[in-house]
Amino acid sequence: MMKRKKCTYPAGQSRKFFVFLHFTIMNNPLSIWNDHETIIIGKGPAALGPFVAAARDGLLKDFLDQQGVVIAGQNPGSGNLGKYRLNSNSPANDFLEPLDGIAKNGLGSGIRNALDTPEGKTLQRFGERNAPLPIVAAFIDRVGEAVKSLLKRKIPYCNVLPAYGNLVGIRENSCFVDFHQDQLYSGNIVLAGGARESETPDFEKISRECRKYPNISHRVLSASEAFCQKGIERLRVWIEGNPDLQVTILGGSHSAFSAAWSLLNNVVQKKSGAAFAPGSIRICHRAPVKIFYDSTVEADSFKYSYTPGDVCPQTGRVNRFGGLRGDAKKLYLQIMSNEEDRVALKHIQNPDFLIGAGESLSQSQVAILALGFGVGKRTIRNLDAKTEEWIPLQNDRQGQLEVDESCRILRADDTPLQRVFGLGLGHGIKASHLGLGEPNFDGKVDGVNVYWGAAGSMVVRQILKNRSASSRTLQSFSPQES
Ligand SMILES: Cc1cc2nc3c(=O)[nH]c(=O)nc-3n(C[C@H](O)[C@H](O)[C@H](O)COP(=O)(O)OP(=O)(O)OC[C@H]3O[C@@H](n4cnc5c(N)ncnc54)[C@H](O)[C@@H]3O)c2cc1C
Repeated sequence: MMKRKKCTYPAGQSRKFFVFLHFTIMNNPLSIWNDHETIIIGKGPAALGPFVAAARDGLLKDFLDQQGVVIAGQNPGSGNLGKYRLNSNSPANDFLEPLDGIAKNGLGSGIRNALDTPEGKTLQRFGERNAPLPIVAAFIDRVGEAVKSLLKRKIPYCNVLPAYGNLVGIRENSCFVDFHQDQLYSGNIVLAGGARESETPDFEKISRECRKYPNISHRVLSASEAFCQKGIERLRVWIEGNPDLQVTILGGSHSAFSAAWSLLNNVVQKKSGAAFAPGSIRICHRAPVKIFYDSTVEADSFKYSYTPGDVCPQTGRVNRFGGLRGDAKKLYLQIMSNEEDRVALKHIQNPDFLIGAGESLSQSQVAILALGFGVGKRTIRNLDAKTEEWIPLQNDRQGQLEVDESCRILRADDTPLQRVFGLGLGHGIKASHLGLGEPNFDGKVDGVNVYWGAAGSMVVRQILKNRSASSRTLQSFSPQES
């Protein structure tokens, strides 16, 4: 087993005691501070993906075997998804189906049992309908609890670490993670810590430019603030103080329409009497807005215009990944049919987006930036190099990390890091890697169904491949169940 790098001694404690503790811990296979086969950094839906996928694929014992798997991030579960005061954009069944194929009596049965919890049953009632995200999150939290209790069931080396981890460097056969107090080596790392709007390339610049409008100045929000409780409260105060409040939303994705939906449904409360006036919310979008239809027949019946490149060859769905769904789609269709006159769309064709949106911004008191989610520029250290050497990683236009068809993170030179995986928001997998979706869509596929489905499976399979290619000596365990 590889050696742990550092043991720190809190002030006032004897070094002798900690040397004793160190050796006791290192000789105890159930210790949390051992080196591991795999460390998953993050505690949201994506971090649960490899466990759900391994359980469904009958690979859970293999996956947890040897030097074990840990999640770095206490109480894995719904991550940020439950904070959004929105309905899901995917049907409730999308969250349930990945658990359906898990064997009832195997090692992963606890994960499957989340379907039978009150939260699982509540979600099942929505079936093919969209469910409120807090209800979805309550179910995902149950899946997280099941994964946590699986990892804590005395399976050697498996655990949930009560600390945030940060991938620092890689060697040929291992990765090095910093936990502030401790540093661990592991055979593989899965980065699943989600993403932030402030880490998209344009966010800082556009937010600075918006603040230059004296009418807006300090009232610039991100889209997620517009649909999370704290931001909703702020917006409520603003509209109650100014019945003529005008809002410009910059961006044309799901988040932009979700922000507008939240203004109309969360911010405005009947009892306060405050309301948005016609035309007071403007969505300024660069690309033409596309919408999702279940089939070309359905799209035709609504006289929706699409090209063959918008149709997914596997399913016949129109704009399967690139189209608005759920409440965002409903709102768009209401705007287009003049049923909803409080929201107006402005297609910005000026190559300088901010100049194009200038007129709208100059009339508004609030700007909401819906520019996507990113993780920003990242480098990691090559610990095999004799002198200090940093490896730049590859970002896409939105500041997400690029991954290959096995979800391995790509270096800037397009080659994959063999043992570093990205899963979830900020590490989106291309639809083409999954062999799915409409040819016109070149974006990233994200969704719990993907992390718990195809992408989760790819990560597990690649980790098992890495293990068989590795020369490290590993230990095995024999769980009671198969
Ligand atoms: C508005 C919106 C609506 C969406 N609706 C849907 C939907 O209806 N259906 C669907 O399938 N998908 C949906 N998604 C897409 C996606 O499924 C969610 O964004 C989901 O929350 C992503 O999961 P995640 O685990 O990647 O990230 P997150 O949910 O952000 O979770 C990451 C977690 O890891 C923690 N973390 C970060 N860094 C570390 C670290 N170093 N160590 C430990 N922990 C760390 C974070 O605090 C966070 O709790 C939606 C996304 C958005 C933005």
